[in-house]
Amino acid sequence: MVFLMKIGVIAIQGAVSEHVDALKRALAERGVEAEVVAIKHKGIVPECSGIVIPGGESTTLCRLLAREGIAEEIKEAAARGIPILGTCAGLIVLAKEGNEQVAKTSQELLGIMDTKVNRNAFGRQRDSFEAELDVAILDSPFTGVFIRAPGIVSCGPCVRVLSRLEGMIIAAEEGNVLALAFHPELTDDLRIHQYFLNKILNC
Ligand code: GLN
Repeated sequence: MVFLMKIGVIAIQGAVSEHVDALKRALAERGVEAEVVAIKHKGIVPECSGIVIPGGESTTLCRLLAREGIAEEIKEAAARGIPILGTCAGLIVLAKEGNEQVAKTSQELLGIMDTKVNRNAFGRQRDSFEAELDVAILDSPFTGVFIRAPGIVSCGPCVRVLSRLEGMIIAAEEGNVLALAFHPELTDDLRIHQYFLNKILNC
């Protein structure tokens, strides 16, 4: 079968299969044919029409992305206007600047979004919780699953804030790039993946 479109999920570390499943379900719901690929090495990002950077551990993720040469490819794709979705650790990886904790580990952030992040804004692993969120791109609340979640502390003028929780920005968009502090792939609600798919299809 010949696929018209490829959507890639960075698969070198973190919650990959849930995003792959959510994207496949979102595509099926729309009747759109596309291949969802797990990206483990260099050379695939340039073929993708959309890229997801999943949750996981951002220090490891940043290190492996740089080592494998995927970091540069993602930056190039972002500059070409390819839609990118970063969730949780993905939100950290996309940022321009981190808090002291990020500086201490000399994490090489991609700097694609004009945001400053707090890596563990909502605590450590045991601090997982769910919250009903108002998200500007949705017309009714979305259940956000937070796991050792980061937050955006501040952002530049081109960043659209989509949702806040306890004084932190937890969803934001800058042009083709969308970042969430929570995990939409861990719920059955596909509305955010559908929104991301819209960005890809309208690109
Ligand atoms: N706070 C984590 C980090 O620093 C991210 C947590 C997550 O992706 N669930 O990488």
